[in-house]
Amino acid sequence: MSLIVQKYGGSSLADLDKIRLVASRVKKCRDEGHELVVVVSAMGKTTDQLISLAKSLNPFPPERELDMLLSTGEQVSISLLSIALSSLGVSSVSLTGGQAGIITTDTYTKAKIFHIDTRRIKDLLLKHQVVIVAGFQGRTPQGDITTLGRGGSDVTACALAAALSADFCEIYTDVRGVFTADPHLVPQAKKIARLSYEEMSEMATLGAKVLQPRAVDFSQAYGVRVHVRSTFSEREGTWVEEINSMEEVRVKAITHSGDMLKIVLLGVPNQPGVAAQIFKALSDFSVFIDMIIQSEGREDYKDLAFVASREDEEKVRKAIACLEKELSFQGMKFDETMSRVSLVGAGIASSPNIAYRMFNALARAGINIDMISTSNSRISCLIPRDLMEEAVKVLHEEFIMQEVRLNEEV
Ligand code: ADP
Ligand code: ASP
Ligand code: MG
Repeated sequence: MSLIVQKYGGSSLADLDKIRLVASRVKKCRDEGHELVVVVSAMGKTTDQLISLAKSLNPFPPERELDMLLSTGEQVSISLLSIALSSLGVSSVSLTGGQAGIITTDTYTKAKIFHIDTRRIKDLLLKHQVVIVAGFQGRTPQGDITTLGRGGSDVTACALAAALSADFCEIYTDVRGVFTADPHLVPQAKKIARLSYEEMSEMATLGAKVLQPRAVDFSQAYGVRVHVRSTFSEREGTWVEEINSMEEVRVKAITHSGDMLKIVLLGVPNQPGVAAQIFKALSDFSVFIDMIIQSEGREDYKDLAFVASREDEEKVRKAIACLEKELSFQGMKFDETMSRVSLVGAGIASSPNIAYRMFNALARAGINIDMISTSNSRISCLIPRDLMEEAVKVLHEEFIMQEVRLNEEV
């Protein structure tokens, strides 16, 4: 008998028929004798709808109140799933994040879990109950409701799997696993059988939203094996786990993110400490920066360009407004028309041939590269958003399909 944490995403719970299907999957697993903790997201696009309700009253809703509102989406799902299970004769108990013992910081809308008190869940498991937990939410030590950031039900599931020392964590979604590119964009994309935590972490950070980046970090830190698979199929999906093989360096996937914001600060004084001052201001507003380029500029001045996510635009503007009080620069530009395409695969950035082939493939398609960044296991290019889909297809053909054909020929 295993202890399994399962997570069902919003698209798997979009209507009552789908909730019935999820209930029957849970029953089947229970009938096989496993102990089960089931994490659920809000039904379909509920979270988006709740956000737009709030924003139609105030474009910048107070974040504590937004969390109070958003958490209701998952509360609908836990109770409906528990009711659906009762009609199949399966005993279950639904718990909000707070009731499940998930304690977070008070950074509303992107709270971090710092403790999970598992006593209540363990007690219910001992009583042979299926425990259904609302994903994406927790509570502060003072008892206020928080949410964990978009896609946060993945974090709830992986964190619970870690805290309960579950045998593994199953992420049920609307695709058959993790693919070599988003299968909704590239229909020929191939399902990947196994990925290391590092590769999955890069993919998630770079836009493959099938798994939330912090969920991967939790799994890696606690050695939780994660199985990403489809709610609508019995077939094996993708295992994310520790991989220590001496595999050849190769591109595993192409990822994309359409919501990049490029900011250029013009005529920044060319002297020690200025870059530190700029990035301190951004860090004070918790803005995550991806690429940075400092141009040659004129003798006493340089231009500094960097890339953030468009959802952080308001925070970037506030940070720059603070910065302007202490640092003089000659102007700034915001470009909201950019996207990022990336190659992911352990060790690829150390292979000059892969970088050359990437830039060459984009050049052949007439796609101009605006900025480039690399880490050990990725190479990313900033390109115009209207060319993003074309770029992903071109790179998928160059790095995945050519290899697939080669292997078929052998
Ligand atoms: P859920 O509602 O189950 O949490 P998400 O919409 O958050 O599902 O994530 C699943 C989606 O991730 C898929 O429908 C797919 O379009 C997208 N996706 C992006 N890149 C990839 C990839 N490389 N492999 C699989 N899915 C991907
Ligand atoms: N319902 C939340 C969202 O849409 C959390 C999740 O689905 O994981 O972001
Ligand atoms: Mg998701």
